[in-house]
Amino acid sequence: MQWHDQQEESPLSFFQAGLRLMARCPLCQARYQPSSVKVIAEREDAYLVHVLCAKCRSAVVALVFANLFGVSSVGVLTDLGSDEVLKAQERIVEADDVLALYAACRDGSLIERIKK
Ligand SMILES: [Zn+2]
Repeated sequence: MQWHDQQEESPLSFFQAGLRLMARCPLCQARYQPSSVKVIAEREDAYLVHVLCAKCRSAVVALVFANLFGVSSVGVLTDLGSDEVLKAQERIVEADDVLALYAACRDGSLIERIKK
């Protein structure tokens, strides 16, 4: 791969190499458009990106990172918008949240909410 051979690897080439790993939507296999990729957070050796599929509107949040072996990416499907990802990360799950979820599972109201 070309980016392995470069002496001075610019952040952009590392980033582009990472994006090449996730070139297609995992659900509909449509090719991602470069404009549908949004960088949510970045560090020297890693990017957190949000990619929205223009065809099926599904979204993936992926961590693109460099290590000894080159560039890797790990992604998960999400229903969050690119502006919601960091906010969701900041939210703390309290004991009351867990109890509310448990109660909703027991009384069937969770199923009702999902059906809506
Ligand atoms: Zn898709």
